[in-house]
Amino acid sequence: MSTPILYIVIPCYNEEEVLPITSGQFLAQLCHLIDAGKISDDSRVMFVNDGSRDKTWEIICRLADEDKHFIGISQSRNRGHQNAVLAGLMEAKQFCDITVSIDCDGQDDISVIEQMVDEYAGGCEIVYGVRSKRETDTFFKRFTAESFYRIMNKMGCEVVFNHADYRLISTRALNELANFREVNIFLRGMVPLVGFKSTSVYYERHERQAGRSHYPLSKMIGLAVDGITSLSIKPIRMITALGIIVSLLSVVGIIWAITAHFLGLTAAGWSSIICVVCFLSGIQLISLGVIGEYVGKTYMETKARPRYIISDRTYESKK
Ligand code: UDP
Ligand code: MG
Repeated sequence: MSTPILYIVIPCYNEEEVLPITSGQFLAQLCHLIDAGKISDDSRVMFVNDGSRDKTWEIICRLADEDKHFIGISQSRNRGHQNAVLAGLMEAKQFCDITVSIDCDGQDDISVIEQMVDEYAGGCEIVYGVRSKRETDTFFKRFTAESFYRIMNKMGCEVVFNHADYRLISTRALNELANFREVNIFLRGMVPLVGFKSTSVYYERHERQAGRSHYPLSKMIGLAVDGITSLSIKPIRMITALGIIVSLLSVVGIIWAITAHFLGLTAAGWSSIICVVCFLSGIQLISLGVIGEYVGKTYMETKARPRYIISDRTYESKK
């Protein structure tokens, strides 16, 4: 087997502070792997500008001028991290044999890429980067992030615990991933569905090298809701189960009401009626909301809008 071409795909959104620091580290790692004869000299560090409003794209263009190993593409507007990664992977697979997707803030240990490439050489098509510790995260971030994985798994989404979007995927697996046509994309849940031989490598997560996180709690909850509803229909099943339980309970309630009527105990019943009405209308609204989420998802899927639009490249497009 000849040495594979590796593309490191890096989504960047308003990262002008951190890019000048981490870009050199990515290049150093790429050159180290090229020198070690593990990857071809045609390998590249590919930045995906996700519609940044700051100087991120200018920095990417400048890097591309300085070194042939840097290239970049730009999305026509901000579409979110998942779409940016997908755009990069789909673009990269035309040119390479393997891709590694990684955040640009230096939180994920870059040196693990070597282990990932070794695993690929050993026959794995997908290698997940898994965080072994979260000591540098605050208690709050750690608690919310770990709850995220637990809830996801309970809700029927097969996600790798403590694995974010740092992973190696071969072009062979990417060609199959390209056939997953959904518009609501949640790569962490989709990639395991592609199958193929896969493994995990472990690393310690560092602190962000500069700038600030774009994933506050609200976005994380949004990601979890999106992930669950685009991968599993377990919440709808739970509503059905809840409906059955409430119906059974109401049979007891009805028997109680009728008995009370005949025993002549039905004087002041106001509080109990209000309680039951409140409880049931709450459940009904929540259930409607959950079902509505799925209806909304279906609506967005039927539109089948493009998942990403690339507006600029630092190189001539092959297509
Ligand atoms: N990102 C992106 N588009 C967005 C938000 C974030 O491409 O709309 C990128 C960001 O530049 C970074 C990665 O996604 O490379 C992860 O974001 P961040 O570090 O802010 O999240 P955290 O690591 O705190 O979860
Ligand atoms: Mg980060």
